[in-house]
Order: sequence, then structure tokens, then C-alpha cells
Amino acid sequence: MAKQAKYVYCNDLPSVAYATRTLANSPVLIINCEGRTIGVLGGALSLMCIGTERAEQIFVFDVLALEPFKSRLQPLFRILTNPAVKKAMWDCRNDFLEIQNEYNVMMTGIVDLQLAEIQARTTVKREGDYQHKCRFTRGGCSVPLQTINQNAELFFEVHRLQGMDACIRQAGLLTAGKDPEVVAMHRAAGSSIWMNRPLPPELLAYAAHDIELIGALYEDFKKGAWITPTNEPLLVAQSMRYAYSLFYQGRVPDDDPFGQAAVLPLDVLNESPGPKVQCHGCHRMQSLSCYSVRKQGGGFEARSNICRVCQIKLLMKRAKYPITWIAI
Ligand SMILES: [Zn+2]
Repeated sequence: MAKQAKYVYCNDLPSVAYATRTLANSPVLIINCEGRTIGVLGGALSLMCIGTERAEQIFVFDVLALEPFKSRLQPLFRILTNPAVKKAMWDCRNDFLEIQNEYNVMMTGIVDLQLAEIQARTTVKREGDYQHKCRFTRGGCSVPLQTINQNAELFFEVHRLQGMDACIRQAGLLTAGKDPEVVAMHRAAGSSIWMNRPLPPELLAYAAHDIELIGALYEDFKKGAWITPTNEPLLVAQSMRYAYSLFYQGRVPDDDPFGQAAVLPLDVLNESPGPKVQCHGCHRMQSLSCYSVRKQGGGFEARSNICRVCQIKLLMKRAKYPITWIAI
């Protein structure tokens, strides 16, 4: 069995008060949630895990046990909404959505390490256009290189996401891997195992261990100059756009072709000026550069009804959806 992370289980008011006092003294927090199909229709939070800057202390908040005390959690929520407190996360979107749904709390000051990894591909690793495209040709929901080349305008400045596990492997971090017992439980019963009570200690330790992993990545990214005092403010702005990218879509059905996929939405790394229009796929308001644009008769231009990222999701999932053109 993997070495278990040390954590404080917070399922009553005294433990929450202790956690809040400790977390209030940390300028950086590490946050990760567990639950049933979070970000998907029918999703629900089970645990909200928060660690201090280097994961020296980890608190596992039991969302179900704390349900009757929601109104007493305000001191903790004030930390989550304080922009002066940075929150290191890995793919903040679903956690942001679920925390907003559960507590009506909009977190601020997010530093999303998944975005830092994407930026390091060009700024540190010096990856070129070919390597950028090849990322779409590997793993699940891959797209053949020929299809990418035939649809070059769709893929322009669109990035493939990388999972945390792959990033930890590449970084060569000496951390205990995922507990195989928990991985097996997940495989057998799905994510609904998170809604059982009492939660087996293995699951609590597994959730706490993710905070250690994110903390180790954050330190590694700073050491490798992937995150610096100079680029971090921009990374926070990008992370907040990433967090809000599901705002209009909300939880989606599992089989929605425009639901979860390992592709970074546009208007996250850069925010284009000008008007924003709504995508018929992901429902997100985005600038015109996020759509396919073509010339119509009479010198007019039209944009695709769904954004380029949604078109790429159709290619990744081998799904069909009628593309129509809207005059702009
Ligand atoms: Zn879209």
C-alpha cells in the first residue's frame, strides 16, 4: 500500500475552526475536491481538501457531514474569496463549479498548474508547432495528424490538456503513487464511492495525498521557473478565466459531445478585445477569434455556430453536430 498522507478530518465545528485558524496563516493554499462525477449532471461534492503552502498541513472537509453547519463556514469562505490568498489547483474548473453550486462561493486568486504546464511547453520546453499538434494524436480521444493538418485553422492556438499523473511522471517527483486499492475501488464502483459514509480511511488518505501531489508540483514548477513572481499575476488572471469557463455551461450530461474533453478552451490564455458571442455547443460567451470565420457573398463575413474548441471536441469524440453559419 502507498504511504498514507497525514491529514485532519474536519466533520464538525471545532475541527473546522481549527482548520480555518491554521489556513488563515498561509499565504498560499492548495485545493482539490472529490465527489461523484463532479462537473457532470448529477455531480455532488463529497470532500473539499485544503492544504497549507507546502502541504505541511492538510484538512479534509467532509461536505456531507458539514451540511447542517453551512452558515457557520463563513470564516473559511472569506479565505477562499480573498484574492490576496493564492490557491494552487490542478484544473480548477469542476472544483470551482461545484464549490459555487454547494456554497455559493466564488473563489479568487487561483493559480492553475495545468495552465502553467501548457505555457511552459513554449516558454521553457521550446516545443514547436509539430509537437503541439502531436499532443492531439496521442492518448484517449486522439485525432489523426492528417485530420489536424486538414483543419489547421480549427487547431490554431488550441492546446491539448495534460493530466496531473502524466505531469508528475514527467517531473520525476519522488512521491508515493496512487493507492492501488482505491484505484481498484474506483474502477469497480465508480465515483459514487465518495458519497458513502463512513468513508474508508483509504479514501480520505487518497484525497489528502492529492494535496501533497499538487503541492509538490507547485514547488517543482517554481524551481523550474515555470511559475515566477513575474508571470504569476498573469497566470492568476488566466486561471480565473479558466475557472469561469464552465459558468454558462454548468454541469453537463455525461454523453454531451461538448462536455469534458482534454482540450483547453480559447479566451483563457489570452483575452481578445471586442464583442463576445455565445457558442451553441458549450454556451460560453467568447470573442470572434474563437470561431471559424468565412467570407459570405456581398463582402459579409459569417462565423460558425459552435466555437473552434467545440468543433475539435466533435473530432475527438467522433460525434456529429450540424455546423451552421451566422452573419457577423
Ligand atoms: Zn463552444
